[in-house]
Amino acid sequence: MPSSPLKIALIGAGPAALTLASILHHHNIPFSIYESSPSPRNQGGTLDLHPSGGQLALRAAGLWEEFTKLSRPESDVMKVVRRDGVVLWDGNGADAREVGEEEKFNGRPEIDRAVLMEMLLGAVPAELIHWGKKLAEVVPGVGETYDLHFADSSTERGFDLVVGADGAWSKVRTLLTPTQPHYSGISLIELSALDVAATNPWLVQYVGRGSCFSFGEGRTIQAQRIGDGSVRTYACLRVPESFIHDCGIDWSKPDSARQEYVERYFGDCGDDLKRLVLESRDQLIPRALYQLPVGFCWDSRPGVTLIGDAAHLMTPFAGVGVNAAMVDAMELGEGIAGFVEGGLEREGKSLATVIKDYETELFPRGGKFAQKTMVNMNKHFSATGSEDLVKRLRAAYGN
Ligand SMILES: Cc1cc2nc3c(=O)[nH]c(=O)nc-3n(C[C@H](O)[C@H](O)[C@H](O)COP(=O)(O)OP(=O)(O)OC[C@H]3O[C@@H](n4cnc5c(N)ncnc54)[C@H](O)[C@@H]3O)c2cc1C
Repeated sequence: MPSSPLKIALIGAGPAALTLASILHHHNIPFSIYESSPSPRNQGGTLDLHPSGGQLALRAAGLWEEFTKLSRPESDVMKVVRRDGVVLWDGNGADAREVGEEEKFNGRPEIDRAVLMEMLLGAVPAELIHWGKKLAEVVPGVGETYDLHFADSSTERGFDLVVGADGAWSKVRTLLTPTQPHYSGISLIELSALDVAATNPWLVQYVGRGSCFSFGEGRTIQAQRIGDGSVRTYACLRVPESFIHDCGIDWSKPDSARQEYVERYFGDCGDDLKRLVLESRDQLIPRALYQLPVGFCWDSRPGVTLIGDAAHLMTPFAGVGVNAAMVDAMELGEGIAGFVEGGLEREGKSLATVIKDYETELFPRGGKFAQKTMVNMNKHFSATGSEDLVKRLRAAYGN
């Protein structure tokens, strides 16, 4: 066991950091989290946690039982619609499958991002999370430690380990590499319709219990039922990086912006698909999607590492980002626990070796997820995107 407790900083309080925090806390290992938001953000869509991804990490954090109560395996259902509106696959109806009680977590049970975050926050002592602390820079400190400089001009000194879980535009990453994310070629509008059961029964019936997809050349529409009773819809385009700023749509007027976006870019789609976008009226956020290069890596540096999007930012088109983030957290957390609890030190391993070993596994794993995401993105945005997905579903389910 190290002679004095390690001083560990986690930067960010997203799913990656909170999973790591809950695993460290499960092993009684102290740490501090610094998060730029002033308070927890209870927003976001729904995330599917895979048996060998997020589910495994939650088991390691001792949160499996809670997950089984809060997740929605019944939402692991897809509907696929061709651009002209023809439904090619409907897992809610014609293509529904019987899923036995014992296999309901074998697929991809959904959990609202807000519910996952609340569960993880509940597993971490509140006093270990410092809200409203935006990291400006990490700099080498005394000996082999690091100091954290924050945007509010405060400093925290003397960390043996700084874990960058600060997402796409990680400040910790700049200590390891000059590489920055690049534009993926895809921009989208993210839309919400709240309380749909009461306000829009058609939308409930059309989207179904899970996800509804329509893929095609240069454009996709994706909608999800969220456990809080809302529907979240993404209408995505393959466009240049400057699109959101120079397409001429006034995003400050959501009603006319939505109408114009649909008329201009989805005008030839089936009426139901257009209605899905037009009737998601409660929120509109335009976003450009960025990614790190496939195969992104860095030279290991003792005392600093990255997990989650900071380590392998990718687009959401394979739905693996959060699973990858949680596996990182599990692998690093178990490595740190092994070191702190003494087992690894007996094998002559230092904290620097623990980090290097973690990164040696991380780089190919992150690369695999990033590659899968890139392949999926190209398939989704191809002329036969919907048809190809249905072929894969029929091959997988044998119908
Ligand atoms: C539109 C969209 C849909 C998605 N859908 C899915 C999906 O269906 N399935 C899936 O698996 N993944 C999905 N993802 C990806 C998923 O959201 C991410 O992979 C996941 O959130 C990564 O978690 P993280 O903790 O690494 O990063 P984040 O969730 O980005 O958290 C980083 C945290 O760090 C904080 N932070 C940032 N900078 C600083 C700083 N300087 N100082 C202190 N704190 C800082 C941020 O405020 C944030 O709380 C989607 C992403 C997008 C954009």
